Amino acid sequence: MIPYGHHVISQEDVDAVTAVLRSDWLTTGPAVEAFENDLGTWTGGAPAVAVSSGTAALHVAYAAIGVQPGDEVITTPLTFVATQATAALLGARLVFADISPDTGNIDPEQVARLVTPRTKVIAAVDYAGHPADMEALRAIADGCGAVLLEDAAHSLGSTLRGRPVGSLADVTTLSFFPTKNITTGEGGAVVSADTDLLARARRFARQGLVREAGQLRYSQEGPWHQEVHALGLNYRLPDILAALGSRQLASLPDFKRRRSEIKAVYDAALGGIPGVDVPACRPHADPMWHLYPLRVPSERRRAVYEHLRASGVGVQVNYIPAYWHPVFEDMGYARGLCPRAEDYYSRELSLPMYPSLTDEQVGTVIRSVGAALETA
Ligand SMILES: *Cc1c(COP(=O)(O)O)cnc(C)c1O
Repeated sequence: MIPYGHHVISQEDVDAVTAVLRSDWLTTGPAVEAFENDLGTWTGGAPAVAVSSGTAALHVAYAAIGVQPGDEVITTPLTFVATQATAALLGARLVFADISPDTGNIDPEQVARLVTPRTKVIAAVDYAGHPADMEALRAIADGCGAVLLEDAAHSLGSTLRGRPVGSLADVTTLSFFPTKNITTGEGGAVVSADTDLLARARRFARQGLVREAGQLRYSQEGPWHQEVHALGLNYRLPDILAALGSRQLASLPDFKRRRSEIKAVYDAALGGIPGVDVPACRPHADPMWHLYPLRVPSERRRAVYEHLRASGVGVQVNYIPAYWHPVFEDMGYARGLCPRAEDYYSRELSLPMYPSLTDEQVGTVIRSVGAALETA
């Protein structure tokens, strides 16, 4: 089976991890610090806190923003449920704004209509790697005093008008799950130029512990003393994994080039087929293509999916509208809420897309899609 996504691990990656295993630090130590600094070269210099997953990054980000019961988070339904679950766990009310049909990203016009005095966060997702319309979202967020969050689990390495993802939002979250643009096995990061917010993020991810002398309430207690001022969790990324992350970042330019090549070949082969839509790219966006979301006629999507899987092409569907999950259905979110996201979902199939996919495999995928569309 050709999977829809796959990690790429080099000998240098293996060597970097084994070097840490032989060192004195296994968890938060020099490799984490180095990885956080290395991430800055991709985020326009915005500093980062490395955490244990993309889900942890979202939880940490919403907690550092101060999301609490009564707050509203305006967000997209076309995403992995972690974008919403982490805000809901903090008591936020989710407000779903529909997408733009070309990119699958949250539509600023829909967001603007849903702003209320309780809007605390506007949470965009860079679907498939294509940056959301951050300029329009920025204007809305500034106009209502909301924090602009970008779930960039798909889009590390993408740019908008030459500005890198990581420098566009007030807070950006990353995931380093194996199918994502780089991997640490499990891992994630919170990125923000707001140093106070980032300090709160770091603290929340490290059990809330305060150690800095100037910030202790009881500074005379003794040299061992540490305090908790606000509750936190353990979301630390181990040094073992951070070392892998730094190595993977060194490969990111090559990964981006190969993903772009594959996107172009798929576009050329599939773009002209009636009833089929290839992923759009807006003029000022330079995406790192994490997914290749093809859209086929909805009434045949299931048959095409099954045909492709049976012929060894491991397509995936990204994503079921978030509010269709029974947990949100039980809270009263009804189907039909965001018709464009539902239409997108009903037609979507993610084709294999990862840097080590060979030209031959790309050809196999294209022929299989053609055959599936003819027979399924
Ligand atoms: C993968 C993903 C996450 C969660 O990241 P994990 O590292 O798997 O916890 C969050 N949001 C989006 C859009 C994702 O694709």
